Amino acid sequence: MESSRRINLISDTVTLPSPGMLNSMMNAKLGDDVFQEDPTVKQLEEKLAGMFMQEAGLFCPSGTMANQIAIKSHTQPMDEMLCEINSHVFQYEVAGYAFHSGIAVNPLTTDTGNLSSEIIAQSIKASQDWLPNTKLVVIENTGNRTGGTIYSHQELLEISSCCKANKLKLHLDGARIFNAIVEGGYTSHEIGSLFDSISVCLSKGLGAPIGTVLLGKQSWIQKCRKVRKVMGGGMRQTGILAAAGLYALEHHISRLKVDHLHAKQLEACLKNRAYVSKIKPVYTNIIIFDLIPSLSTDSFINQLNKYGIHASAFGKNSIRFVTHLDISESMINEVIEILESKII
Ligand SMILES: *Cc1c(COP(=O)(O)O)cnc(C)c1O
Repeated sequence: MESSRRINLISDTVTLPSPGMLNSMMNAKLGDDVFQEDPTVKQLEEKLAGMFMQEAGLFCPSGTMANQIAIKSHTQPMDEMLCEINSHVFQYEVAGYAFHSGIAVNPLTTDTGNLSSEIIAQSIKASQDWLPNTKLVVIENTGNRTGGTIYSHQELLEISSCCKANKLKLHLDGARIFNAIVEGGYTSHEIGSLFDSISVCLSKGLGAPIGTVLLGKQSWIQKCRKVRKVMGGGMRQTGILAAAGLYALEHHISRLKVDHLHAKQLEACLKNRAYVSKIKPVYTNIIIFDLIPSLSTDSFINQLNKYGIHASAFGKNSIRFVTHLDISESMINEVIEILESKII
């Protein structure tokens, strides 16, 4: 076994562009996207908008920026956003909702990790001078911190009609929306128009190096373009990145199923390990499990490192593994062998 080889299970963001992807980047037609003259960026934005039945798209350098632009463009200061307590917009975006948008957040606790139309309806604040205006709902599909959880089509339909009935804007944080789509029994066409806006990440499971496309109505995306500019996200010959995104949409969607299969194989192995005290159900490509008190996360991670396997702690005694494009079947077999025979 070559211990120098890296099997990186830290995140699905660690993938490197494949030769085919690099080739399409090299050959992309380019222009200055601040003047909206990059044909490859336009092609990517239009393609994704079409896939999700939205009018327009906006290429952003990161998922965080796309979410923050969406929050800013849907709200006014003194408004309030509802989201699940584990959601990325609440946990991992540096309180950007407060910094950029001057809004309050009501992080809702759920049993499943999914918001429901009931909890949303119950959480809408009355219209009073002393209360923020509940204005925006953000849902995450799949849920990262909740273990790759998926919203069902029915849940999405109910949430969407609840938001419409109560004049709330609905944003989908779709960092892993294609992981949800390949498992959820619905298509991008079927769910896209349920949302006022969607951020679709290209650099997680899809394997592009950079990029998230924000989708929404034409006039709203125009406003978002200005917000992107004030955040410093107006970029020039961005087609070189958009080409990677187009390549990923063409080649890497259906193969997400393989990542999910690999995650299931790791789950089956971990379920039978004496040093694992609890494991969250695995729905897509994220595996979150707790270690018994006598095995620290540091010790577990260091032992894996010795065999060239990288993983990260996820809280006090939890570990997260994420499967992705650069994890092959033989790597999964190798990880399983180590988990079965080498960890003490
Ligand atoms: C990774 C992630 C983002 C944003 O990621 P960037 O690193 O800013 O591109 C947003 N939402 C979720 C659920 C994520 O997992």
